Amino acid sequence: MDISIELFNVLIRVLQGDITRCKTDIIVNAANTSLLGGGGVDGAIHRAGGPAILEDCIRIRNKQGGCPVGGAVYTTAGKLDAQYVVHTVGPVWNGGNHHEEELLATCYRHTLQLALELNARSIAFPNISTGIYRFPKEKAAEIAIQEVTRFIQKHTGLNEIIFVCFDIENAQLYSRKLQSSKD
Ligand code: ADP
Repeated sequence: MDISIELFNVLIRVLQGDITRCKTDIIVNAANTSLLGGGGVDGAIHRAGGPAILEDCIRIRNKQGGCPVGGAVYTTAGKLDAQYVVHTVGPVWNGGNHHEEELLATCYRHTLQLALELNARSIAFPNISTGIYRFPKEKAAEIAIQEVTRFIQKHTGLNEIIFVCFDIENAQLYSRKLQSSKD
């Protein structure tokens, strides 16, 4: 199921597995507005990365009061094999009439913008909002691929973008949609 395609000179990969094992300049976390850690991928990143990540999160929280939905902030990656963790806060799916799609797109845009500012070459994304926040997986995959594609069309710097899918359903969705975006 793992696939890779090239778009605008960037390698786009779909991997099924645990994002904390990725060796990319940036690992993206699907955080919550408190930045204090949670379940799902957030819990996994804090566990694997160690306390330095939470210490940075608390510093950010003390300075600017957490992170808004659609926003993105960065911290050390602690013990992870990455330079930074970018924490972005996806929207909770609440029926679809509460700007959820636009807010999810904003997460990807802000995270990619931050990656550019940090001179990152590679980045690994989880499937933001599709766990505890219940965003429909297919719609979320379309938004993720659309925002990444738009971004790399306009900006150079990144040469590898990995969509890390924890579950088989997301891995299949991303593989299918990426294959067809190439044709
Ligand atoms: P959200 O609150 O944004 O929905 P979750 O962490 O609940 O965040 O889920 C986001 C996605 O991350 C889900 O698709 C979930 O299956 C996935 N996920 C959970 N643990 C990991 C992990 N260790 N690596 C990669 N993805 C993960």
